[in-house]
Amino acid sequence: MGIVIGTPGTSSAVRLVLLGSGELGREVVLEAKRLGCEVVAVDRYAGAPAMQVADRAVVVDMTDPAALRAVLNAERERPCARLLVVPEIEAIATPVLEELEAEGLHVIPTARAARLTMDREGIRRLAAEELGLPTSPYRFCDHLGELEAAVAELGVPCVVKPVMSSSGKGQSVVRAPADARIAWKYAQTGGRTGAGRVIAEGFVDFDYEITLLTVRHAGGTSFCAPIGHVQVDGDYRESWQPQPMSQVARERSEAIAAAVTEGLGGTGLFGVELFIRGDEVLFSEVSPRPHDTGMVTMATQTLSEFALHVRAILGLPVPAGEIPLAAPGASAVILAEAAGDAPLVHGVAEALAAGPDVQVRLFGKPDARPGRRMGVALAAGADLDAARARARAAAAAVRVAEADPPA
Ligand code: AMP
Repeated sequence: MGIVIGTPGTSSAVRLVLLGSGELGREVVLEAKRLGCEVVAVDRYAGAPAMQVADRAVVVDMTDPAALRAVLNAERERPCARLLVVPEIEAIATPVLEELEAEGLHVIPTARAARLTMDREGIRRLAAEELGLPTSPYRFCDHLGELEAAVAELGVPCVVKPVMSSSGKGQSVVRAPADARIAWKYAQTGGRTGAGRVIAEGFVDFDYEITLLTVRHAGGTSFCAPIGHVQVDGDYRESWQPQPMSQVARERSEAIAAAVTEGLGGTGLFGVELFIRGDEVLFSEVSPRPHDTGMVTMATQTLSEFALHVRAILGLPVPAGEIPLAAPGASAVILAEAAGDAPLVHGVAEALAAGPDVQVRLFGKPDARPGRRMGVALAAGADLDAARARARAAAAAVRVAEADPPA
């Protein structure tokens, strides 16, 4: 019989419950809607990007186990043909997912993958200690004394990050042993759950870093062309595809990505982050879901990372081996400069006037704060450097300003 897609809003529906409703989730929803699914978008605030395009929205604190269980139980009680829980962020009460998975709920890719990747310790120990993959040297520290000892062992420079953090929050580089105290304090303010454990990692002097989008699907494991990116303060600013790399480095990257995604299991797309130095490849981290640097695939691949994720989780065909690249391309983020509700976006026309291969995606976030990602500019073209320049120029043309004060 194969895969059957029913009708949204009826007992035949294929229903996705998206846990987290940011810009990446929004694209997942759009792809799922294109394939006739019903989508419920969950997040802690109303009007989140994915909620704006979903069938229904639920506002709840997903780190609250009782609240999360209540939402998922309500969806289990509502008749449908297939129910898939699709985590889109890390900050989720993952023990609830494991409990409900044991009762038969389908979590993407698996509840264990959501738990292991929600903090830096779970995934680092899986990759380095269980799977034996190459990583930077590291230590976990619970207080300043431990961090000082770790800095002495690892040497400087080293990188300190809260284990419960992403996007560079609370992350800093220790350049001299005396800086350990500052790094410790900074990490205590930047973690998702406030104070707590940190990871200290030897600083990797990489030539470049990549995201290797890896798809586990019914027909096997496939890879997108490597994505290069630039991070500022641990947060992504620009990405491009394909990142040129040696054949050896590429093969090693695919082997590491295959191993870590196999270790996490399930089906779906994963963003595997790797550091490359010559032909040497080190594993950094992995998202068991689409990756922000992978937004470039909306310009470079006929099947974007979001389309691939949805196909994989529904059990639909995904190209075998290497996912075809339609054209080289680049992305550049659009950041808010000031804080304010109901922000106004200027300059979209100017950005799009650059040509037919430049696109702007605005996320519709209901409030801005300095440095918040509000959109992304995409450019394709035969020449990678030209595409990067065009994406940067388009992003720079777009300005997110405060709404005018009421008259
Ligand atoms: P992460 O949140 O761990 O992905 O870190 C964000 C960014 O910080 C990475 O993409 C790198 O650019 C940089 N970074 C993180 N860890 C290291 C490291 N051990 N050595 C050098 N750079 C790092």
